[in-house]
Amino acid sequence: MATVFLGTNNEGKIKEFKEMLANLDLQWQTPKSLNLNFEPEEQGDNFEDIALKKAMAWGQKHHLPTLVDDSGLYIDSLNGKPGIYSHRFFTGSGDDRNQHILKLMANIADDKRSARFICSLAFYDPQKEIKHVETGICEGKISLEIKGVHGFDYDHIFIPQGFNETFSELGMEIKNQMSHRRTALEKMIPFLTQWIKLSN
Ligand code: IMP
Repeated sequence: MATVFLGTNNEGKIKEFKEMLANLDLQWQTPKSLNLNFEPEEQGDNFEDIALKKAMAWGQKHHLPTLVDDSGLYIDSLNGKPGIYSHRFFTGSGDDRNQHILKLMANIADDKRSARFICSLAFYDPQKEIKHVETGICEGKISLEIKGVHGFDYDHIFIPQGFNETFSELGMEIKNQMSHRRTALEKMIPFLTQWIKLSN
C-alpha cells in the first residue's frame, strides 16, 4: 500500500484529510508519527505557489510523497486581505485578528462584505518528480459581529453563501461539507487515485 506524508502539524487538518480521503488505498504518516520537528517557510505570492513550495520542502527533506495545504481568507473590501498572510495578519490571538478585521470593516455595508476562503492543496512525489495542485474556494461574507463557539480563527466571522450564520455557529459537520478544504480535497481524489495505480 502506498504511503503519503501529510505535511502539517495542525491536528484538525490531519483529521479532515484522513476522513475525507478514507476511501483511498493509502496509509498516512504525519510529522508526529515520524517524530519530525520541521516547519517549512511560507514562500510565494499565492496559495498554490506556497502550498507547492511547502510540499516540495517536506518531500525533499524526508523523501516521501507529500500532501500539504495552504489556506486563508480573502476579503474584497480589504483588497484581498488578510489573504496569504491570514495567519500573520495581526499579532495576537484569533479573536484579536477577528476584532481587528471587524474594526477595519466598521463602515462597510452588508452587501459589500463579500469574502472567500481559499485552500490550495499540493502533492509532491520526490521519487517520480510528480507535482499536482488543486484549489478549493468557499464563497461568503464577513459578519457584523464575532459569533459562535465551534471551529477556529476566521470561522467566527465568516458566513458561507446561502446561510445566515457563521461557520462557527453552524458547526464543523456543516462546515466540512462545503469548506474550501473539502472542495480542494475532492478535486484531488481523481489525481491521487491515478497516482496510487502508478505506485502499485
Ligand atoms: P495555513 O493554511 O495553515 O497557512 O492557514 C492560514 C490561516 O488561514 C490560518 O491560521 C487561519 O487563520 C486561516 N484559515 C484557513 N482556513 C481556515 C478555516 O477553515 N477557518 C478559519 N480560519 C482559516
